[in-house]
Amino acid sequence: MRVIVLGAGVIGTATAYWLVRDGHEVTVLDRQPGAGLETSFANGGQISASHAEPWANPATPAKVLRWLGRKDAPLLWRWRLDPALWAWGLRFLANCTPGRTRINTERTLRIALYSRTLLKALRAETGIEYDQRSEGILHLYRDGREFDLAVKAAAAMRAMGLERRVLDPAACVRLEPALAQAKLIGGIHSPEDESGDAHLFTQRLAVLAQERGATFRYATRIEAIETEAGRLCAIRTDQGRLACQTAVLALGSFSTGLAKSLGFTLPVVPAKGYSVTLPAGPGAPKMSLTDDELKMVYSRLGERLRIAGTAEFAGLDAAIDPLRARLLLDRALGLLPQAGDPAKAQYWAGLRPVTPDSVPILGPSPIAGLFLATGHGTLGWTMSVGTGRFMADLVGGKRPEIDPKGLGIDRFG
Ligand SMILES: Cc1cc2nc3c(=O)[nH]c(=O)nc-3n(C[C@H](O)[C@H](O)[C@H](O)COP(=O)(O)OP(=O)(O)OC[C@H]3O[C@@H](n4cnc5c(N)ncnc54)[C@H](O)[C@@H]3O)c2cc1C
Repeated sequence: MRVIVLGAGVIGTATAYWLVRDGHEVTVLDRQPGAGLETSFANGGQISASHAEPWANPATPAKVLRWLGRKDAPLLWRWRLDPALWAWGLRFLANCTPGRTRINTERTLRIALYSRTLLKALRAETGIEYDQRSEGILHLYRDGREFDLAVKAAAAMRAMGLERRVLDPAACVRLEPALAQAKLIGGIHSPEDESGDAHLFTQRLAVLAQERGATFRYATRIEAIETEAGRLCAIRTDQGRLACQTAVLALGSFSTGLAKSLGFTLPVVPAKGYSVTLPAGPGAPKMSLTDDELKMVYSRLGERLRIAGTAEFAGLDAAIDPLRARLLLDRALGLLPQAGDPAKAQYWAGLRPVTPDSVPILGPSPIAGLFLATGHGTLGWTMSVGTGRFMADLVGGKRPEIDPKGLGIDRFG
């Protein structure tokens, strides 16, 4: 079958890889000169099933109220008269109940655990290297109440198949000596989680897909998706029109505009996040860390340390606000003073495609022949390889290896 994949981020590239491996004729379109150059470029680097608790959870509304008006808030809501954003916000609130949190955590874990297993198998089979590390991820806590809530959430995730170990501060330092000076109350270790450079992975996976016969057309802007009698018939780009009957929409935060032009709504909004990358200093951690209270993550990528975090609802604007970028670095150096030389820091911002329930939208669209693989929010790298396999199965008419229930756009009514 001939399939066009729209977008060469980590999601589109993983989808293309599995499709071409299954024997399909695959073309990938992207406006950038290479793969993984937008949101998949400098993310937090974590393969973190342990991060499966959705943003919409019972504790979030009170936190958001507390953070309102604070420029240093981990989550910043820039007020705009955008009906789509407000509709999204109402859906987000509706997902903050304990019941919805449990359902959404299970759905996220379903994809994340599948993806993590497939990533390990892919690595063993192809030898793909991307500055990966496999000592697990350690979540850190300084506040007793936050720790208690996290221990409860960890128990729920354990019941859903994710191994998580609650540790005292001394055990945290034994795992990661760089934390010796940190004033911790405890930690939770997820030994099977990993980390690695998503951009390097995406580029190398694109090469593996090309070696199997996929065509990547870079510097090609998608302008429209054309339909005939409710069926996909072509993709129009600034480089010409490509007739096609099957395509996968994997444009991250930019998927919504094209969906709208086709007459359906994708409840996905961009949440800007920042990262700082610096040469690792003598006190840089070797294992990947998550500071749950400050919503920050740390990943060691070879000789570099990547720090990422913050969420800003400010539309499709990936401009770097120097104040918020520097804040991330200052907080990191507060925890790990010898982590690296701030003068050599490189700042980046990207737009996470976030759904109101933190579960991506995977499956058919209302347009026959057009499939959706978007809305991966804060966990796109974690869920990429599994998403790709899942999409290749759906597109190829095979039964996916994980249950598709609750992952499609139909869950939004
Ligand atoms: C600060 C930050 C930290 C993060 N940390 C982590 C983490 O530690 N672990 C994790 O799992 N996830 C993390 N994420 C989330 C993860 O990076 C995203 O979920 C993931 O990159 C989304 O991938 P994607 O392929 O859907 O989107 P993208 O990577 O944005 O890919 C979409 C592609 O579509 C192309 N495109 C868009 N519009 C057009 C058009 N009109 N024509 C042609 N091409 C177009 C773009 O060029 C782009 O290449 C983080 C995100 C941020 C911002």
